[in-house]
Amino acid sequence: MNERPQKPIIPHLTSIFILLLITGNLFRAMSQEYFQQEVNYNIQVTLNDQLHELTASENIEYINHSPDTLLFIYFHLWPNAYSNNNTPLAKQLIQLYGKQQLFNDLELRGLIDSLDFKVNDKRVDWEFLSGQPDVCRLNLNAPLNPSDTIQITTPFHVKIPKGGTSRMGHIGESYQISQWYPKPAVYDQDGWHQISYLEEGEFYAEFGHFDVQITLPANYIVGATGNLQNESEIEILDKLSTDTSWINNASSTKNDFPASSKLFKTIRYTTEKIHDFAWFADKRFNVQKGKVKLPYSDREITTMVLFTNEQSELWKDALEYVNDAVYWFSAKIGDYPYQNYTAVQGALTSGAGMEYPGITVIGLADDAYSLDEVISHELCHSWFYSALGSNERRYPFMDEGLTSAYTDRYMYHKYPEKKLWEVYAESERWARFMKIKEMPIQRMQELEWLVQARNNLEQPINLASSEYTELNYTVMLYNKAPIAFNYLRAYLSDSIFDAAIQEYFRLWKFKHPQPKDLRATIETQTGKNLTWFFDDLLGTTKHLDYKMVRLQNQQLLIRNKGELVAPLIIAGINADTIAFRKWIDGFEGDKWIELPSGDYSDIRIDPEHVMPELFRTNNNIKTSGTFPKAAPVRLNLLYSLEDPG
Ligand SMILES: [Zn+2]
Repeated sequence: MNERPQKPIIPHLTSIFILLLITGNLFRAMSQEYFQQEVNYNIQVTLNDQLHELTASENIEYINHSPDTLLFIYFHLWPNAYSNNNTPLAKQLIQLYGKQQLFNDLELRGLIDSLDFKVNDKRVDWEFLSGQPDVCRLNLNAPLNPSDTIQITTPFHVKIPKGGTSRMGHIGESYQISQWYPKPAVYDQDGWHQISYLEEGEFYAEFGHFDVQITLPANYIVGATGNLQNESEIEILDKLSTDTSWINNASSTKNDFPASSKLFKTIRYTTEKIHDFAWFADKRFNVQKGKVKLPYSDREITTMVLFTNEQSELWKDALEYVNDAVYWFSAKIGDYPYQNYTAVQGALTSGAGMEYPGITVIGLADDAYSLDEVISHELCHSWFYSALGSNERRYPFMDEGLTSAYTDRYMYHKYPEKKLWEVYAESERWARFMKIKEMPIQRMQELEWLVQARNNLEQPINLASSEYTELNYTVMLYNKAPIAFNYLRAYLSDSIFDAAIQEYFRLWKFKHPQPKDLRATIETQTGKNLTWFFDDLLGTTKHLDYKMVRLQNQQLLIRNKGELVAPLIIAGINADTIAFRKWIDGFEGDKWIELPSGDYSDIRIDPEHVMPELFRTNNNIKTSGTFPKAAPVRLNLLYSLEDPG
């Protein structure tokens, strides 16, 4: 029997079709095929460093690769985030830091105006969104059909806020110009993503090519996204790079801005397959340039670091940090996907560093190790953000989690003996007193996460930025997410994990991957069902806690006391050597494990801390009196994180 009415179905269906067609959902409903829009930019901008303003014009080629007919396009006008106390940014700053009435201070205010949008040379209607003064909607004069292209132009003027509030600003005549131009929001399978600029919560933008000309007083030194096109400017930077007199002025407090040249210069950058363009200008920058030959293609890329005398002592090895990390990440993930990379020291207050395609800005660092770590982290975003353009606002774990996992691994590879107390404790004596002198620095990440976990304050790793508490935004994304990915890597082995991520990079670079795409690639590559990882470990706050119960003959009884059913590793230990390692797939309740024969006195669950175990005091058992007086396992072994694969 069919209870659906017979008569009205035709008109009903017709109206459904019309409705779906209007809202652009019909084709998405019919086909879930991947598409992405293309947005190509041509921008001319002039910096006025007396008024701290940009005057610019923009020409955008927008190509509709979607199967939908578009009647309007959302644009981000993010400098307006700084325009008054009611913007989503202002509200978030109140919520996060209690910064009330911040933008009553005229200097802190920023804005974008003088807009006059035209599509194919005809003026269009446009309006700000209610409650979002940093987003507008262009109502197209004619529908934009699938595969059609339009030219969108507008002049614009930006008042650059005084720095210190968020990512864009100027400190005196030092400029950090990010999120500064009118930019179409992403339109993907889920529709439009018209999002306001926020401090906590990052970006999502369309790929395309950029051609940007920057005009400014001639004695500015500029670092920017993309490839510098002016031979004369390249020569200037090359020449500055050979000047190492800054070494004598190391970390000088005399750091005044020289007067700006009366002459102006125009420098041009072009680049392809990129979704954002940022630039940084300062007359005081010291310059170091280098080259790196990439491991797979032998392609040579240009690297550069720009820094003032303020921390030149720390930055003396920064070019080497960049070069080492470019090569190492390329070897692990796939060749660095662009032609240039620049690290800039900036007066940044939000976070230790901030990534943009081909360039990063790094705040003041405490020590050389921390500087290396921040540079490496931001550089690693070249893969997990610049090239793999996931929606950072919705799924921050896809960029921050993977970036942090690879950075932790790189730092451990580079500094295997680094101890926690050297960076985090006041003195070695204190560390000795606390009996943590041998604790490796990587353990800090686990300890911070454990505080949240044991207090039941966790949130799942796969939430949207806006869903996290301020503390969990850090602990879940920068602590637990890399612990989770490194746990998966330990379980799969380095070589299998690397092959899977290399394939993910190969398939999804210059696209907008979703979590399901990451999962499908890893599952296909490894031939494993990873529900425990993607659904349970990333998608819930279920805890992992296995317990040793007893030994009988060559059999070991282990109990799953946690809620998570996920793989565990056990190891047989004899004095300071690991006699065997064995991975066991997750199980509920109790399970008997067959032990290999061999020479070991202790058996431990996860002695090398690769699992997010909630409690470790129940992780050990001694073998039945074979070695009753075995020497304690050396701390440095227990604290080391080796590849069990
Ligand atoms: Zn990051």
